[in-house]
Amino acid sequence: SLVLVTGVTGFIGAHVAVSLITNGYRVRGTVRSMEKAEELVRLNPELKDKVDFVLVKDIIAPNAFKDVVKDCDYICHVASPFFFESVTDNKAQLLDPAHKGTISVLEASCNEPKVKRVVITSSTVAICDFNKHPFTGYTYTEKDWNPISYEEALTTKNGFSAYCASKKFAEIAARNFVKEKQPHFDMCTVNPALVVGPPIHPMSNMESLNTSDRLLWSLINGSKSQPSTQNIHVDVRDIAYAHVIAMEKPELSNDRMIVSQGPLVTNDVCKILRQKFPDLKEVISEPTDVPFNDKHFKVDNSYSKSFGLQYHSEKQTFIDTATKLWERAKQF
Ligand code: NDP
Repeated sequence: SLVLVTGVTGFIGAHVAVSLITNGYRVRGTVRSMEKAEELVRLNPELKDKVDFVLVKDIIAPNAFKDVVKDCDYICHVASPFFFESVTDNKAQLLDPAHKGTISVLEASCNEPKVKRVVITSSTVAICDFNKHPFTGYTYTEKDWNPISYEEALTTKNGFSAYCASKKFAEIAARNFVKEKQPHFDMCTVNPALVVGPPIHPMSNMESLNTSDRLLWSLINGSKSQPSTQNIHVDVRDIAYAHVIAMEKPELSNDRMIVSQGPLVTNDVCKILRQKFPDLKEVISEPTDVPFNDKHFKVDNSYSKSFGLQYHSEKQTFIDTATKLWERAKQF
């Protein structure tokens, strides 16, 4: 079967392509630049002749995906803006590309009879309520929605809130589209926590590292930043394989699936890496004595496990990520 992956030169998109190929699928990937496509293959020779690249310069251009979906059996729509620093126009930079890109993919799929399912990379930020204090002890499930209103999304000065809203409203739009238009295909979202893992996609320098690996990089790049945060995370290889599950399982028709390994505690990251790489202690931040707080909100990953998703251990994730980040940094 042929699968279209949008944003294949991004951090997650590149891993989705690898996972699909490993699982026997053929891949067509959309890119904003052919140079980046070539660089992706140079960095990952196993993708050579396995991915057919097509140019989609801007996902919000009308009919951006019209011809691109031809002959595709499945779509993994991964491309969406993911940044929250220096956001000056919430609508133009985040809300519109997320929403219009998603609708454009769905509209194009209506004209390709082969399409069976569209999988959309949503996020746990479409699920969690960030106005609540993080230490509530609450466990979110697939039933929860971030309550942010569209009005607030348009006007908030908080780039992170605007990004969260872009994911929420794109996901809602996709669900409404399928409910109203009743197309010949169905959809499913995967909703990952903060995604960390070995970056295999093109980047021009470590400053252009994807948003979600930056936290980990700040702990191991010699800047000795204070590890002081708790979050929830998932390995990029696990979210990549979750896209395959979301495509294949009939039970996931028009459903959503949380994908999260568990808590990410920056203190523990430093402890694990200092133990594994004792010679590199001078570049790895020192753990502080801020204790792990069990009251940090959690997300329930049992639904994903019920479909056979096996998660990397956090130790493996942090070791593999650090190893790759140091390797990539040496190349610039
Ligand atoms: P990246 O920034 O690495 O990837 C984003 C991808 O989308 C890139 O391929 C980028 O193209 C493409 N893209 C962005 N805007 C446009 C546009 N206007 N037109 C065409 N293509 C565009 O981020 P991630 O890989 O981390 O994110 C991928 C998806 O996963 C996003 O939907 C994000 O919201 C979601 N997600 C990510 C999480 C994380 O922690 N990383 C957590 C939860 C969800 P190019 O390669 O040319 O830059």
